[in-house]
Amino acid sequence: MAMNHVTALECTICGKEYDPDQIIYTCSEHEDVKGILEVKYDYDIIHDNFNVDLDGDIRSQWKYESFLPVHDDAVPVTLNEGGTDLFDAPNLSDELGVTILVKDDGRNPTGCFKDRASSIAVTKAKHAGRDIITCASTGNAAASLSGYAARGGLDCRIFVPGDAPAGKLAQPLVYGADVLAVNGSYDEAYDLSVTVTDEYGWYNRNAAINPFQVEGKRTVGHELAEQSRVRGEIPDWFVFSMGDGCTIAGAWKGFREFYDLDYVEDTPKMLGVQAEGASAIHDTFHDHDDVDEIANTLADSIAVGRPRNIIKACRALEESGGTSVTVTDEEILKAEKLLGSSEGIYSEPAGATPVAGVRKCLEEGIIESDETVVVTSTGFGLKDTESAKQATSDVQHIDPDLSEVQKLYGNAEAMATDD
Ligand SMILES: *Cc1c(COP(=O)(O)O)cnc(C)c1O
Ligand SMILES: [Zn+2]
Repeated sequence: MAMNHVTALECTICGKEYDPDQIIYTCSEHEDVKGILEVKYDYDIIHDNFNVDLDGDIRSQWKYESFLPVHDDAVPVTLNEGGTDLFDAPNLSDELGVTILVKDDGRNPTGCFKDRASSIAVTKAKHAGRDIITCASTGNAAASLSGYAARGGLDCRIFVPGDAPAGKLAQPLVYGADVLAVNGSYDEAYDLSVTVTDEYGWYNRNAAINPFQVEGKRTVGHELAEQSRVRGEIPDWFVFSMGDGCTIAGAWKGFREFYDLDYVEDTPKMLGVQAEGASAIHDTFHDHDDVDEIANTLADSIAVGRPRNIIKACRALEESGGTSVTVTDEEILKAEKLLGSSEGIYSEPAGATPVAGVRKCLEEGIIESDETVVVTSTGFGLKDTESAKQATSDVQHIDPDLSEVQKLYGNAEAMATDD
């Protein structure tokens, strides 16, 4: 039953410590939900248990099980999440004028980065003997949790804003979850899910308040560290889009752990990218006075008005020597098209947002052209085909007749003699 490598849950505001074996979501010393807890580890124990080759061969995130906050006797509920490719992107690099690599997390089992966290959530809920699991989500966390709940044999009840993209609502239904589409924003769906958790005692996977969720997201940092080690080069920048801010915080924590343990010699600067219409983390990080709480962007996965993990996200930006920028929806759509057409990687808007952020940072001199940048595509594009249509030209409808093709591309014989 031991979880000796996890020493405490520590409040990010007041430092009060809690027992990691109890299901505690946030620090009780504060009125609102902002007393987010941080999982603390004994790294001597982790290092002693971590007997793997950092050879770049990563079948799933469970390669890093010694780092994960699960009990020794817990049985992982997994679909082989993580272990995603770090692609060279020569065409995209040419387009943008900087060396870019793509960490393609849209290839996770449910098409989204969040599978890393859902695997941990369901593993822990199951180990704790819970049989109902819940979360609020802009779409992807719900779809992801539903898939893992099905895999683990748990009931899943999810709260999403009523206007989530159709693909993201179909997915959890197929996985057998109860999908409760709340007439309201993500922020309202979120508050309801927290109230319901208090009332019914369901296991809540909400990334920001459940301290263990960020911990699964660390594995993308572990993987990049390992993959960088094999490549022989630590990137200068590691770029994520930000909604609640859990993803970038987890990624940084993971990379920094490998650095602190001397598995890699350097760390990247974290770049967080938000949509102009949902920029609360960016505004807080840059000390803007008017932090707008209304979320307005077509990148639904990052349409968060009141990010729950501002403290951890800002800490990641600051500790790593990084920064944040915002981009417009138009720039996000352009980036989605660019990533697809230059490298064959189809991301949903939030997954392509880092590419838009890199372009902006190059223009503003935040990223230098001789630096190396890793952008993370956090979600697969087929989840949201509607927004993609705004970024692309239309399908060309033609009659089933050769002359129609000739109208478009000219006469085949004439073309052959041209060369
Ligand atoms: C959830 C999500 C994000 C943002 O992650 P946060 O932890 O909320 O900052 C980015 N991209 C995609 C595709 C997501 O689903
Ligand atoms: Zn506290």
